Amino acid sequence: MDEPKDRVAKSDAEWREQLSDQQYHVCRQHGTEPAFTGAYWNTKTKGMYLCACCGQELFSSQTKFDSGTGWPSFWQPVDTAAVETETDRSFFMTRTEVHCSRCGAHLGHVFADGPQPTGERYCINSVSLKLAPEGGDAK
Ligand code: FE
Repeated sequence: MDEPKDRVAKSDAEWREQLSDQQYHVCRQHGTEPAFTGAYWNTKTKGMYLCACCGQELFSSQTKFDSGTGWPSFWQPVDTAAVETETDRSFFMTRTEVHCSRCGAHLGHVFADGPQPTGERYCINSVSLKLAPEGGDAK
């Protein structure tokens, strides 16, 4: 696949400057926020979830569902090109890591136990996202 023309590449120092400590830890160091602590795990607001690092549109509220995990969960990205995956073998598990295709921000993991129509569960850290509510400003 061709590299997206608008791919965002920043230095580690630039990301540290731009992001909060928690955002930096999760998005740039593959961290995980504690369950049930993030801003969006229980959010029902309609809108578009953007990448907290680069603003790319990642997930629509239309595909968000209550997974019971304490992390915002979606059954598909807004566009197949918006996210990329790679195999993650950390913590003695084999999982599929999900990151933003534009800036490489770690978002979370995708699992095969989601609801129809896709059967997928994108388990995403709130801190990796920024909700742009329908008809309003991002908050
Ligand atoms: Fe991004």
